[in-house]
Amino acid sequence: MTTPTKWEIAQHWARSLRRDRFAPRLYDLGEPCCFACGYYSEHWDKKTAKASWERAALERAHVVPHSLGGDDGIDNLILLCKPCHQESPDWPDPREMERWIATRAPRMSKEMDGVLAWQQAAVEVPEFLPLVEELAGEGADGSRLIELLQDAARQAGLHWGVGLSQGTRVAILRAAAERATAEVELAR
Ligand SMILES: [Zn+2]
Repeated sequence: MTTPTKWEIAQHWARSLRRDRFAPRLYDLGEPCCFACGYYSEHWDKKTAKASWERAALERAHVVPHSLGGDDGIDNLILLCKPCHQESPDWPDPREMERWIATRAPRMSKEMDGVLAWQQAAVEVPEFLPLVEELAGEGADGSRLIELLQDAARQAGLHWGVGLSQGTRVAILRAAAERATAEVELAR
């Protein structure tokens, strides 16, 4: 018996009556994600759903491991991200995997982790958020704000969005906020 492909496993669980138990985070066949924590990455998106699942950094995981009598049947295979696969139970009773999945905390995508980091940086630069309202709120398209942020990021000598430390994010927001304050005051 050949092992089912990742795409076959995703399709199987998407229509399985046991989906809530073993693939509760699988909402959309067009968006590959870890069945347990829901981790999804935008760069997994390919032209077709099949290609997206096959290329995604997800691992085939046995509900009941080989070594404990589990087979390679599609009902015994789920798709997990690497951290989930490493931490999931190796146990002969499939209910243990089911319980573990039910208690697994959702993990945000890399892209969303980035958003969270910027939000935390914004807490340290309280003058920034009111400026966002002013420059990107109703009636404004926000492009000036993005320009200011990009200019500030260039001062840091880094490519936009790549490998920023938290301290650098705070510095970028502060520099952009200073420029934006000046521009908003000029416009008044
Ligand atoms: Zn996961």
